[in-house]
Amino acid sequence: MKFIRTFFIFSLMEMVELYNKFKGCINVSTDTRKLKNGSMYFALKGDNFNGNNFVEDAFNKGAKYCVVDEPSAVVNKNCILVNDALKTLQELAKFHRAKIKYPIIGLTGSNGKTTTKELIYSVLSASFKVKATSGNLNNHIGVPLTLLEFQDDLDFGIVEMGANHQKEIEFLSSISQPDYGLITNFGKAHLEGFGGVEGVIKGKSELYDYIRANQKTAIINTDDEKQINQIGNYKNIITFGSKNDNNCQIEFLNADPFVTVMFNTLKIQSQLIGAYNFGNIAVAIAIGNHFNVPKEAIKKGIEDYQPKNNRSEIIEKNSTKIILDAYNANPSSMLGALKNLKQLSAKNKMLFLGDMFELGEEAHAEHQSIVDFAETNFEKNVYLIGENFYNCGTKSSTKKFKTFDDIKSILGSIMLDNSTILIKGSRGMALERILEHI
Ligand code: ATP
Ligand code: MG
Repeated sequence: MKFIRTFFIFSLMEMVELYNKFKGCINVSTDTRKLKNGSMYFALKGDNFNGNNFVEDAFNKGAKYCVVDEPSAVVNKNCILVNDALKTLQELAKFHRAKIKYPIIGLTGSNGKTTTKELIYSVLSASFKVKATSGNLNNHIGVPLTLLEFQDDLDFGIVEMGANHQKEIEFLSSISQPDYGLITNFGKAHLEGFGGVEGVIKGKSELYDYIRANQKTAIINTDDEKQINQIGNYKNIITFGSKNDNNCQIEFLNADPFVTVMFNTLKIQSQLIGAYNFGNIAVAIAIGNHFNVPKEAIKKGIEDYQPKNNRSEIIEKNSTKIILDAYNANPSSMLGALKNLKQLSAKNKMLFLGDMFELGEEAHAEHQSIVDFAETNFEKNVYLIGENFYNCGTKSSTKKFKTFDDIKSILGSIMLDNSTILIKGSRGMALERILEHI
């Protein structure tokens, strides 16, 4: 039996031994269902599972080593027993990161992280070998897994970092150690965990704290006063913006329905809807520009990117246009989506809005504020789904508070032809289910 004794902190020798084993594996896996032959398996514990119970399974699927944290899970000499498998995964990722020579771009923000990450990837890939967080693996497990996927021969790594409470970005930055850091925006998301909007600003700005403390570079949107305030007089910055930015000026043209921008003399039409995507597009252009990606290639990178997984997608069914934005919702992104729908030149607009979660004490006021906005800006066809919306007052009888089952039956009885429908709600509402009934 082979033991690596750890008391949370590895000795250098232990870490080097573990690292060499990792280098002899094809990748790292925490899920035996997806495990590939030759992987290093980490037995993590979740709310509903204990990875230590799947070690036999991991070896059957071809795991080369299993990192476990229960002595009973040690079944052969290729098991590495540690005190805490999750901490070991994080420490290993940190150790690997420290050896990486190419720049890492780290990003966080309330909204648009994945979209921005994909756009930056698309732009930089024109000139460089790049790897980015896959999907939405942006937490204390996903960030280490992402870094451990970064091979030696890349030109850039892009790491998405998500958070719903203080000190999380500080922790993720200490693992990913970004050379370039950007915050997409400070919005009303995860208000409960962060402690209100001020808490969001403080928590997300932990990325700037890392950048400042380590003399790294921040990428700042000069349209966003909060970003300017939070970075203060730190000089090591790359800027971009739509108004008088000497470094990289990108103008917003329109979002009807796709966001179109002007970059120097180049008109770029994205496949993203919603004016709120402007900042996401602009930062990707600015990064491409900074690293000298040819302008035509930047344009192509932006224009080729198609949103995925219910993120502001447009779906056409016969004569009905559906803006499927059911991936997630919070007060900022909900308001952004409503404002976007309002400015579209489409006729027969219809809204299916689902509850927004994780708002804590502010839940009622934030739902009410959305109802008020909808009341003022859309005369009819507003369907509000979920308990939080149900508890809101409405002045007119046009706003209809429903459950999901109500919606299913309503959809059979209303005319959807030639309409434009917005579907948006928190992940837990899974409003993409509506599609099956249209
Ligand atoms: P998560 O916190 O789940 O990782 P994310 O920050 O990665 O989310 P995306 O997945 O890129 O965000 O986008 C999710 C949704 O957020 C989009 O479909 C859109 O409705 C909204 N959104 C995207 N960018 C912005 C923005 N800049 N401002 C407001 N809302 C936005
Ligand atoms: Mg994301």
